[in-house]
Amino acid sequence: MKKILVGTHNTGKFKELSFLISRKIKKISPISLNISSPKETGKTFTANAKLKAKYFSKFTNLPVISDDSGLCIKALKGKPGIYSARYAKKYGSFNKAMKFILKKMENKKNRSAFFVCSLSFVSHEKKIVTVSGKIKGSISKKIKGVNGFGYDPIFVPNSKSITFGQMLKKKKIRLDHRYIAFKKLKKIIKTL
Ligand code: IMP
Repeated sequence: MKKILVGTHNTGKFKELSFLISRKIKKISPISLNISSPKETGKTFTANAKLKAKYFSKFTNLPVISDDSGLCIKALKGKPGIYSARYAKKYGSFNKAMKFILKKMENKKNRSAFFVCSLSFVSHEKKIVTVSGKIKGSISKKIKGVNGFGYDPIFVPNSKSITFGQMLKKKKIRLDHRYIAFKKLKKIIKTL
């Protein structure tokens, strides 16, 4: 069976990416290989996705897929953006980070936001391909739903009236920024 290293320590992302990749490919986690995470020193989603994929690829001959993703809110000048995961650390949890965001958004008329995902793939031959996907939406007034991970309970995609957190997992997975990026990648790397 073919194998791929799904280069992330985030279980939510690992599950989503593994679901999208062909069932014929065995998904390996860096945790199971005792590989730690790299420092995300890039200034963009693309730079960080490349940095992660290249880093994990140094430890293995398997092909690697890594993502860098986050939530960008217009009224907060694009924040939390590339710092989406670090925001949660700073405030203690995702729940606290979401509460902080909702408080900051209290009197904002413009609630538009988007999720973005850059995906980087490194082949056996160490060739790298990077793509990005974006889904537009808005920030809800309250934290709603318990599904998904991260900021899912405060993001309502434009085509829907419920948050990602209220959506069935199988629906969200086929709609979100990671899915949009993955479709682009699959056009290039057909075996995925
Ligand atoms: P990083 O790419 O490891 O820096 O982490 C990205 C962070 O963005 C995650 O920890 C989540 O907080 C957030 N994020 C990315 N994609 C999603 C998603 O699909 N739903 C909810 N939060 C997400």
